[in-house]
Amino acid sequence: MKKLILLGSTGSIGTQALAVVRQNGWQVTALAAGSNVDLLERQAREFRPKIVAVFEESAAADLKIRLADTSVTVLSGIDGVCEAAASDGDLVLNAIVGIAGLRPTLAALSAGKTLALANKETMVTGGEIVNRLAAEKKVPILPVDSEHSAIFQSLQGVPEGALHRILLTASGGPFYGKTRAELCTVTAEQALKHPNWSMGAKITVDSATLMNKGLEVIEAVHLFHVSPEQITVLVHRQSILHSGIELTDGAVLAQLGTPDMRLPIQYALTYPERGPVNGERLDLFRVGKLTFEQPDTDTFRCLPICIDAIRRGGLFPTAVNGANEEAVRLFLAGKITFLQIADLVEAAMDVVDQTAELSVENIFETDRAARRLVLEKSK
Ligand code: NAD
Ligand code: MG
Repeated sequence: MKKLILLGSTGSIGTQALAVVRQNGWQVTALAAGSNVDLLERQAREFRPKIVAVFEESAAADLKIRLADTSVTVLSGIDGVCEAAASDGDLVLNAIVGIAGLRPTLAALSAGKTLALANKETMVTGGEIVNRLAAEKKVPILPVDSEHSAIFQSLQGVPEGALHRILLTASGGPFYGKTRAELCTVTAEQALKHPNWSMGAKITVDSATLMNKGLEVIEAVHLFHVSPEQITVLVHRQSILHSGIELTDGAVLAQLGTPDMRLPIQYALTYPERGPVNGERLDLFRVGKLTFEQPDTDTFRCLPICIDAIRRGGLFPTAVNGANEEAVRLFLAGKITFLQIADLVEAAMDVVDQTAELSVENIFETDRAARRLVLEKSK
């Protein structure tokens, strides 16, 4: 039986992962999350891990008292989360949101763990470093993001050198078809209503701006070793074809299914095996039509900005990611408008020091500079 370490256990992916774990009767050896002590306590009592790491110090202190009657070790801070990532276990599922997931990813890989990766910001900011470390430690990175899982599933059995391009699908989000004028006044509440998926707040806003698809282009470049030019983004409103690949001979392979994250989560945890998922099954008669369109990159500028950032490479993806994390926080707090997000993300390209090498230290330095710029410009 596999021993699982779950980072970000209280979030949307984390709780769905635990549903998959519960159904399969797997063992969880460590849990980690930001601050939700009530849920962490319940999870710890149900799954009996050896370690629970809580990023926020005061929340960790609270959890320690609550779990005093158990043998669970409570760790705190980013060091505690990294210690959990490197602790006894075979497989780490990183479902932390944001660049906060990068150090735990590196800790897991350094300890030689197989990595199931939902935290796309890991690959966006540290892709090259992460790939190098995984190769050095000879451990696989298994994608959990539904599109990347679909690409990964489609690639099974495909000989090396046969991949021509990637077909990356996007739902278009809640503001599909809207004009810039209409987007001037949209609220956080409207942005949080995704038509097909139920996800955490940050990624839901990213889906509304198409920043999510931009981050996914960057994620795909690193996961599948392709150039940005080899990725075609298609707006596919039904979210049934989760992405695909075109091969050198013109064959197109794709993975289809209902929009349910439990399948990509489970596939990453059982790979290369498969097992039943307790969910609705795809009824193509009921779906009827699958449609594909070009994305509106004049209105949803975060997508072309991300493509520009990965073309420039180095620390540019980190800058746009950091600016976006800060801008989304401000938008959710009602402090900036929806359209300002793209403006701030674009402006953040200027903070990049092009002479600086790509190192973990410089990634965090660039992230901080991008966030500072967003705070200054949005005052
Ligand atoms: P979420 O906001 O619901 O959950 C985030 C989790 O990360 C929580 O458990 C939170 O406590 C934890 N966390 C935040 N900061 C932390 C820190 N510093 N240290 C430790 N834990 C911390 O987010 P989500 O929607 O589950 O998304 C998680 C990741 O998966 C994101 O990178 C997202 O882009 C990706 N993803 C999510 C979905 C989805 O359906 N939700 C789909 C594809 C990819
Ligand atoms: Mg996705």
